[in-house]
Amino acid sequence: MPELQDLYQQIILDHNKNPRNYRELLNATRKVEGYNPLCGDHYTVFLELDGETIKDIGFTGNGCAISKASASVMSTTVKGKTREEAERYFDTFHRLVTGDTTGLSTDELGRLAAFSGVSEFPARVKCASLAWHTLRTALENEAKEVVTTE
Ligand code: ZN
Repeated sequence: MPELQDLYQQIILDHNKNPRNYRELLNATRKVEGYNPLCGDHYTVFLELDGETIKDIGFTGNGCAISKASASVMSTTVKGKTREEAERYFDTFHRLVTGDTTGLSTDELGRLAAFSGVSEFPARVKCASLAWHTLRTALENEAKEVVTTE
């Protein structure tokens, strides 16, 4: 479906050029750095948790277009969601980029679907999933401050 691929390309280009929630959070309750040494992608994810809810999220840093667009889409996806919902999105995204799409509906995927092409490029999977791994670490582990894809 070439048209769909074009749309996905547009979403990635747009989020790379104008990343959403691209800022440091002054009220962050969690702050975790994510690093992908294979590509050089390096981001810091900030979370403001209010009980079980991700009240606010921000990220800073730099890397390739896929990694930045993915961090941006991740931030818009989980903002205002609960920890449990964010974990589910993590699983969905991980299955998408590793090509395990059995039972995933387009509705469920939403904008995440833009990254479906990544599964064809194994080296890019780490770029696309870096921000998500960083998010999960930030949600699960209060003490951990750095996560790498290795
Ligand atoms: Zn990258």
